[in-house]
Amino acid sequence: MALPTIGIRMVIHEQHRVSSVEARSRVAVFIDRDGVINENRADHVKSWAEFRFIAGALEALARLSRAGVRVFVVSNQAIVGRGIVPAETVDAIHQAMISEIEQAGGHIEAVAYCPHQTDDACGCRKPHPGLLLGLARAHGIDLRHALMIGDALTDMQAAEAAGCAGVLVLTGRGSEQLARAPFGLAAAVAVVADLGSAADLLLNERERVFQARRAPLNHFSISR
Ligand SMILES: [Mg+2]
Ligand SMILES: [Zn+2]
Repeated sequence: MALPTIGIRMVIHEQHRVSSVEARSRVAVFIDRDGVINENRADHVKSWAEFRFIAGALEALARLSRAGVRVFVVSNQAIVGRGIVPAETVDAIHQAMISEIEQAGGHIEAVAYCPHQTDDACGCRKPHPGLLLGLARAHGIDLRHALMIGDALTDMQAAEAAGCAGVLVLTGRGSEQLARAPFGLAAAVAVVADLGSAADLLLNERERVFQARRAPLNHFSISR
């Protein structure tokens, strides 16, 4: 059930479709995939066999869903545009990921990923906000009450460009990204250890996420 939408490949999971009025009143969370939900691999996650959940991620996702938070996954997957894996493989990885998450008690409303390369100048590759904006349109998300959880500056920039709050986790590339832009990142977003801590923050101290003083991030860049 892969649906291409405005240049964005989205796997939409419609199982528990909720009314738009009810849905808009619930907090939505966009979660980056690699380095937040699963371990990064230097040679990319090219198959489900290479997909390893980060410790605590499944439990955190279940906790968010049980609390009524709407959970979306947003991911840059340039390995598709570079011809390393076909889109069908990425879709299959996402279906397997969704089914593991559901078995653990979580629910992913949709996965959206950008298949493009940096040179394609698309609007969906983070730091661009296209994935977040596309999901917001398709799923009736109020971005002012939405949160992006990621391990990279580009995730936080996408959040800023979409008008939602950002939380940086220190799993994946997070520690390295923070070390290279400590002032900018720490001033603009909440920084927590991992997805479990991000869930704690959202569920227990929501005001720290949404009322945090925000500093502009667009003038920062971190080269890989
Ligand atoms: Mg990442
Ligand atoms: Zn793109």
